[in-house]
Amino acid sequence: MKVLLQGLGFEKQSKYVRDYFYRTNMRASIYMSIVVIVLEVWMLIRMTRTIFEKHLQSNFGHYFEKYYSNYLVLLASGIIMLVYAVRYMKGKKTDRAVGFLIKWVFTFVCISFGIKISVNDYAKGEQILTFLTMELFSLCLLTWKPCAAFIISGASYLYFFNKMDNMAAVNTGQLGATDATRINFFIMWISTMMVCIANYNNTRVQALKDQNLEEVNTYLSKISVEDELTGIHNMVYFRTEAEKLLNYVTTDRDSIIFLFFDIENFKSYNEKYGFHAGNDLLKRIAHMIYAAFSSSLVSRFSDDHFVVLTREDGVQNVIGEISGEVKKLQREVHLELKCGAYKPVGDEADVSLACDRARFACNSIKKHYDRTIQLYDKSLEDKFRLKQYIVNNIDTAIENDYIKVYYQPIVSTKTGCICGLEALARWQDPNYGLLSPGIFIEILEEYRQIYKLDKYIIEAVCKDYRDSVDNNKPFAPVSLNFSRLDFELCDIVGYLCEMVEKYDVPKEFIDIEITESALTVQQDFLPNAIKALRNYGYKIWLDDFGSGYSSLNVLKDYQFDVLKIDMKFLSGFKDNKKTRPILENIVDLTKQLKMVSLTEGVETMEQFDFLGNIGCERAQGYLFSKPVPLEELRKRIDSGELNVCKEIKSA
Ligand code: C2E
Ligand code: MG
Ligand code: MG
Repeated sequence: MKVLLQGLGFEKQSKYVRDYFYRTNMRASIYMSIVVIVLEVWMLIRMTRTIFEKHLQSNFGHYFEKYYSNYLVLLASGIIMLVYAVRYMKGKKTDRAVGFLIKWVFTFVCISFGIKISVNDYAKGEQILTFLTMELFSLCLLTWKPCAAFIISGASYLYFFNKMDNMAAVNTGQLGATDATRINFFIMWISTMMVCIANYNNTRVQALKDQNLEEVNTYLSKISVEDELTGIHNMVYFRTEAEKLLNYVTTDRDSIIFLFFDIENFKSYNEKYGFHAGNDLLKRIAHMIYAAFSSSLVSRFSDDHFVVLTREDGVQNVIGEISGEVKKLQREVHLELKCGAYKPVGDEADVSLACDRARFACNSIKKHYDRTIQLYDKSLEDKFRLKQYIVNNIDTAIENDYIKVYYQPIVSTKTGCICGLEALARWQDPNYGLLSPGIFIEILEEYRQIYKLDKYIIEAVCKDYRDSVDNNKPFAPVSLNFSRLDFELCDIVGYLCEMVEKYDVPKEFIDIEITESALTVQQDFLPNAIKALRNYGYKIWLDDFGSGYSSLNVLKDYQFDVLKIDMKFLSGFKDNKKTRPILENIVDLTKQLKMVSLTEGVETMEQFDFLGNIGCERAQGYLFSKPVPLEELRKRIDSGELNVCKEIKSA
């Protein structure tokens, strides 16, 4: 039953199917109206020619009423139908109600014409094919529902039959239709209806197929451009659209800017509150960014990263606002929004590169708690690449002996001879050349790899000692720089003891420098490790004294053997009158706390003399030597340029 009702058009149709029918009707209307227009123009010409050939001009009024008026009405309705249908197919704005009206008028005109001509023909004993043709035209092409076809064809057939029935047939003179005509008529009506139903059902099935395809397509295209979790666009969409934009936008190109967002500490949030809460947070932040840049391209890049392609104006304020909103979402985990920005140069159109650069900029302000936005510049990328290189290659550098120990002499202010050496790392890299610790120490600390370097230096120094002693070459006690992280990441004290034993190095030949800043971080294991080192017999030096904020506290809490006064104190030595009394007081304090004082960064004789006068026992700086490889140090000692203190030589 349901199928029967469906087939006859008694079903609720989706908007897609209705639109499909409308479109099909319009397409058919174009063909049909063209046929009608051509036919009527031809009829008009033929009629006019006949009138002139047969000199019937005087009867023009009669012909106009009987033929011309019909042809002209058909022609006019055909033209109106054609214009409307073409406009609709071209996607121009058209009113549906007007369209329906035109279709009905056209149908009515065609069928009326068919009836009129066929009644005339029938009266002349001719066929009624015009009626049938016009009927089929109108019904097949303009009917969108079999029930409407039933009404139109039923009514027109009945009307036509009635007309004929009241007419005397020419050949027999008998009034009313014969039985044969009645049967023919009924069969014609049934056939017309069948054509209508078949036409309707073909179109309907095709419409449903297309609708399914369209739905699948819409779904596929939606999931191919949408990020599953957040519902905003994904990178496939972003890349395609951004590329189009970069390739076609010519006006105001300078104001185009790529933004890369990262939620700092999102990982901790995820770990603390679980994936569900993490996902929830991501969705909220994604929609915040999406809403803030509603007229721009916004996509999720990956994990907790988002990218935006927008115009530069007012961007800072918008980012500031989003950042404030993100902070409001934090619970016990501190959340911060970081944004890197990149402005494409000239006609650059590489979207991946632009995103990468914005990301570089963003990564460069990670852990800088006072910064939210950073614009990309080339040095950032170089820095980033070097950083990655260092982290990825520290093992190779150690294995291949790219790491070298340079020694810088520490000199006694009393005698001017060498009483110690500071071991300073250098990285002789095949790609980057000589890298100074100023570059790699901080990175290795950030990535918690520093202990590898420090262990390597310990062994290298112990080897150098053994080599010097075995070959009767000069050497002096060496101070090693330890990072705070060494104590956390490995058993550095145990390793030192092991190496000292392996190479048979006297403990007096090894001192440990720990920077003041390392000691300001409250960690239980540090005081214990320092105590253990002292108990083993190593001397502990406080490095870079005065460079941080809590120098004096550190002195109160720990026991040191040597205090290395930071080179900053000497920087304004010549002009700054306060430098001297400050240094004098520090040296005094060192004495009171029973420590030896050493000043770093001594570059002039004047500084050296002053330090000697105020009782600072040791000095280190370029005045005596820059850090140099052991070979060079030996050469300088051999040449007499540098002297090692006697008491050390004998040791
Ligand atoms: P630091 O321990 O304070 O080392 C002294 C730094 O001052 C050295 O820089 C040295 O070359 C420089 N210097 C010495 N005299 C002068 C001078 O007269 N004028 C000037 N302008 N500079 C002078 P370097 O070798 O670049 O080392 C920098 C820092 O890197 C060191 O500071 C130390 O904290 C760290 N470091 C070096 N090697 C290692 C290592 O093997 N392990 C660890 N953990 N840190 C190291
Ligand atoms: Mg040092
Ligand atoms: Mg220092």
